[in-house]
Amino acid sequence: MGEEVDVLVVGAGPAGSTAAAALAERSLRVLVVEEHEAVGYPVQCAGLVSSRVLALAGSERFVLGAVRGATIFGPGRAKVTFRAPEPRAFVIDRAGLDRHLADRAARAGARFLTGAKFDRLERDGSGPPTSVLRHSDGSESTVRARLTIGADGVASAVARAHRLRRPVEILPAFESEVADGGGDPAEVEVYLGRSVAPGLFGWSIPDQAGGARIGVAATPDGTSARAYYGRLLERIEAGRGRTLRAPTSFLVSGIPIGEVPRISGDRVMLVGDAAAQVKPLSGGGIYTGMRAARLAAEVAGAALTEDDLSARSLSRYDAGWRAALGAEFDRASYLRRLFLRLTDAELESIVRALDRAELTGTIVAFGDIDFPSGVAMALLRQSPSLVRLFPKALGALWGRGAGRSPDLEPGPRRQAT
Ligand SMILES: Cc1cc2nc3c(=O)[nH]c(=O)nc-3n(C[C@H](O)[C@H](O)[C@H](O)COP(=O)(O)OP(=O)(O)OC[C@H]3O[C@@H](n4cnc5c(N)ncnc54)[C@H](O)[C@@H]3O)c2cc1C
Repeated sequence: MGEEVDVLVVGAGPAGSTAAAALAERSLRVLVVEEHEAVGYPVQCAGLVSSRVLALAGSERFVLGAVRGATIFGPGRAKVTFRAPEPRAFVIDRAGLDRHLADRAARAGARFLTGAKFDRLERDGSGPPTSVLRHSDGSESTVRARLTIGADGVASAVARAHRLRRPVEILPAFESEVADGGGDPAEVEVYLGRSVAPGLFGWSIPDQAGGARIGVAATPDGTSARAYYGRLLERIEAGRGRTLRAPTSFLVSGIPIGEVPRISGDRVMLVGDAAAQVKPLSGGGIYTGMRAARLAAEVAGAALTEDDLSARSLSRYDAGWRAALGAEFDRASYLRRLFLRLTDAELESIVRALDRAELTGTIVAFGDIDFPSGVAMALLRQSPSLVRLFPKALGALWGRGAGRSPDLEPGPRRQAT
């Protein structure tokens, strides 16, 4: 007979530990299992977040520095720089964030088991199913949980075991820390273009110690993310006018983009990358995953009290998620479809068109890394040269199916960062 708990959280990333803390605070028996021996490692992230993440985490101790702006490089020579007077994003020690969130959950009463991987489900009758864990020494143990929260990232074994469909696009990503790769420490760099990163972008994020986290994520098209990374590095070296020191480590991972039709089912909920709660325009998922984890924990807490863990009861989480971030994700997905149709020449002319004081002013006024669709819509309204894209916008609208409005007039929202 294995262990019995109220909630089994699979995965001790930001989403899992946030859900675990919120549920343990309600005096529920919460077990978090993490396949790696140490929470936070290996790091698979560039670690750029908004102040909302610091607020949700209730701490700033993992912050390495602030950035105030960005330079966006087009596929050719065009570039545009914008800079805000105040910090707009924070470079963090990502492993430090994960450890802080796990410590907070443990202090609230959640139990962590590391080196323990959720392997499969065994169903015997109508009660809670049994989760089989595989430990790093090869042994197995079982847990019976009234509710399982799948916070197990891009490849979610929990989603598979509970038969929740995830028809998402997974963008391969490749990143390295380059010790002397830094540009301006107050600025991130974004590189656009089909030869650098078709389907998303390349980035250089100052690590606040003279180096940079240089990486790329791209639509799979036969060229590996590593090869795109090599091209990006050459481009950055050309821009810096020097050869950079060889990186000592790399990370290879994937970014899930798309809509998961159901993020809950009988006795199960998915949060974070497992639910593809990743911003479609940037691939960032720390804020959205933590936000979703809070929403999931609220619904889970009530459902456990009512002892109704049916798919219907837990679908309040799906509705809560849609209400909180659905409109932003719809707009951003629409803009992403538009972005995917752009040729390099069009991207280049957009970057050139943006390099005007009134437009960079709009970017500074409305730019928000968690809600990027607001500034994109404001720019589309403001600039006649960007409006030339509208025939393509209509094409993208048809591509998303009849009857759903792309909502081209949402009105820019200024979000405090
Ligand atoms: C290269 C790259 C750069 C990124 N940069 C940023 C950025 O700058 N800002 C941003 O906001 N987002 C960024 N992201 C996205 C961000 O990293 C993710 O959205 C975020 O980590 C999702 O959190 P999570 O808790 O859902 O999943 P994860 O952080 O992936 O955590 C999942 C956890 O589950 C564990 N696990 C997996 N399977 C099992 C199993 N079967 N049993 C037990 N444990 C398991 C894993 O070991 C892991 O610890 C980046 C992603 C990549 C790939």
